[in-house]
Amino acid sequence: MDMTVLAVAAAWAAFMIYLIWYFAKAKHYAPLSMEEAQLLWKIHKARDDCNSKTWSEIHRGGKMVGFRCGCGYKHIQKRPVKAPKTTSTMSFTTLYQVQEGPRQ
Ligand SMILES: [Zn+2]
Repeated sequence: MDMTVLAVAAAWAAFMIYLIWYFAKAKHYAPLSMEEAQLLWKIHKARDDCNSKTWSEIHRGGKMVGFRCGCGYKHIQKRPVKAPKTTSTMSFTTLYQVQEGPRQ
């Protein structure tokens, strides 16, 4: 069995599972608390090296679901922040193990 073909096939399978999961959840907005929005904004600033001092809330259906940074960055929360991501975590773990396996 060619390990490269196997790894690519497994990666595609994991990617397709992720896509199905993503699009299944994509239409649902998740409300954000002010603390979560501020935390996500700080994460964005650190990760994207952003120096903006302002941000504004994005509302959908009367609830805050995201924020817009002064630099133009926009974040919309599509799923609850604290919910465990069992499906995607599992597929990522599988992908990681398949990719790392042949090199050892
Ligand atoms: Zn920013």
